[in-house]
Amino acid sequence: MSEALDIPEEELRIGVYVCHCGSNIAGVIPPKEVAEFAATLPGVVHATDTLYACADSGQSLIKEDIKKYKLNRVVVSACSVRMHEPTFRGAVAEAGLNPFLMEMANIREQCTWAHGHDPDGALKKAKDLTAAAVAKVSFLQPLDMIRVPVSKRALVIGGGVAGISAALDLAEQNIPVTLVEKEPTIGGVMAQLNKTFPTMDCSI
Ligand code: SF4
Repeated sequence: MSEALDIPEEELRIGVYVCHCGSNIAGVIPPKEVAEFAATLPGVVHATDTLYACADSGQSLIKEDIKKYKLNRVVVSACSVRMHEPTFRGAVAEAGLNPFLMEMANIREQCTWAHGHDPDGALKKAKDLTAAAVAKVSFLQPLDMIRVPVSKRALVIGGGVAGISAALDLAEQNIPVTLVEKEPTIGGVMAQLNKTFPTMDCSI
């Protein structure tokens, strides 16, 4: 039997922001339609499209709305988390919301960029990605950042090519490294090859 889900006790008040990113997103799908769809999702009290969510004006809009609509969760449907997750976490934190109650849906790199030839499919995917982010943010809990002491040593498990390479990279950075291998010799499968492309030399 599956365990009961840990649903937040407070009333969900989710804000959703769907970014145009110039023509990067809006050139393929209508962000307004994604926002109108998001407004129908459980827990969403405010959903809108925004021209450039990461710009000062876009961040200000989110910060003002957090206060105006008493938002306790935020979803930004825009680009990759690698690009702007710190930006939006910082923005919601400035508005007094725990930064880990913000979730992004990637409707640019993983949607309009990848499916520019299929606008209808891209629109459906953008809605699905946004709905998934809304569902996920519903279950997020506030988190605190902590600092823990870290020993500058490394353990690499597995003495195949990847493990050897990782150990050497670490050693070159003056990090003491211990390489563990269950077999009597290192080299893994590579060490069993009698020829390797392109020189056809023995592998070891
Ligand atoms: S948040 Fe991302 S998708 Fe939106 S304008 Fe900025 S870079 Fe483009």
